[in-house]
Amino acid sequence: MDYNTFFSKALTRLHDERRYRVFADLERIAGRFPQTIWHSPQGPREIIVWCSNDYLGMGQHPKVIGAMVETATRMGAGAGGTRNISGTNHPLVELEHELADLHGKASALVFTSGYVSNETGISTIAKLLPDCLILSDAFNHNSMIEGVRQSGCEKKIFRHNDLAHLEALLKEAGPARPKLIVFESIYSMDADLAPIAAICDLADKYGAMTYLDEVHAVGMYGPRGAGIAERDGVMARVDVLEGTLGKAFGCFGGYIAAGAEICDAVRSYAPGFIFTTALPPAVCAAAAASIRHLKSSQWERERHQDRVARTKAVLTAAGLPVMPSDTHIVPIAVGDPEKCKAASDMLLSEHGIYIQPINFPTVPKGTERLRVTPTPYHDDHMIDALAQALIDVWQRLNLPLKRAMAAE
Ligand SMILES: *Cc1c(COP(=O)(O)O)cnc(C)c1O
Repeated sequence: MDYNTFFSKALTRLHDERRYRVFADLERIAGRFPQTIWHSPQGPREIIVWCSNDYLGMGQHPKVIGAMVETATRMGAGAGGTRNISGTNHPLVELEHELADLHGKASALVFTSGYVSNETGISTIAKLLPDCLILSDAFNHNSMIEGVRQSGCEKKIFRHNDLAHLEALLKEAGPARPKLIVFESIYSMDADLAPIAAICDLADKYGAMTYLDEVHAVGMYGPRGAGIAERDGVMARVDVLEGTLGKAFGCFGGYIAAGAEICDAVRSYAPGFIFTTALPPAVCAAAAASIRHLKSSQWERERHQDRVARTKAVLTAAGLPVMPSDTHIVPIAVGDPEKCKAASDMLLSEHGIYIQPINFPTVPKGTERLRVTPTPYHDDHMIDALAQALIDVWQRLNLPLKRAMAAE
């Protein structure tokens, strides 16, 4: 049997469906974010990145780099094994204290990524509850869907942010059955927010547990950067908060924060926690430095919101189809996979602007888009250049603009 033909056929299917993905080969420049070197087919070139999830530029913050370098110099590169076999490195213990304090919970538990924290966190919590019913928002991230699936528990999907539908499902399950509601605070592709307080009200009324993914909010919202639940004053009402260290905190890793018993149970039962090497001490120290900084510094959050507001205003005024957004994410509708990819290619090769196309299966077919993420370091000039480049690309690809532009 020629096994390779199966793989090449699988790839052909993706090409045929126009969803074969190509990654840009980038080299980040610490101290000059969002300027980046693109290793293009013609050689290295400087470009501006507009789709980074290093939302606050913390990946290049001197305190964060300093903590990483200093810790690696003192403690070396790797953790040396799983926490069960080889012990827990001290910076990881300190990081978990920092995270528990950030979210006002008794405990926190760090995983190798936000993906793993959802996958193994949700599945372990749900499995430990007898006959648990999981209620999952229809737009939940793949890592949460995998967590639900791996739990083996019965699940019901409620329509995205639909409280009436959620309530009907909770009522149907009856008060005695254990129930876990899993949802996100910010849905990053549509840039909308969950009604966290109202979902907590329903959880109280029907006796359900709540598990909230704050991956796209931690660092960026709330007086200490704990997320939307902190901003809305409902953090204490959510049973399990999940976040990443890899986006706004600019490092790597994921976590849950919750009561002591929940964290200890997950620590003791979760295969995705037990059987994998711990985060390196230098990464833990860098993440802790980032969290600590963002607990007190408001500059990054304020400047971020200011840049987001300006980007939305300039792109909207230019007639671009900016999708409604309650958050720092600025999606621009394209609605066609080939044009979306072509727009991204033209922006990169002709305008030195990198925005990855967002196509199926990340978003439903027909809703392809460019997803722009301004950071505190995108200046007025970069925003204006982005608007001009998008207008040029929109006109050449015959994409609709909201109103005719004056001749150039
Ligand atoms: C990116 C993402 C994750 C995964 O976090 P990583 O740390 O990147 O693995 C989880 N949930 C959501 C909603 C995400 O967008």
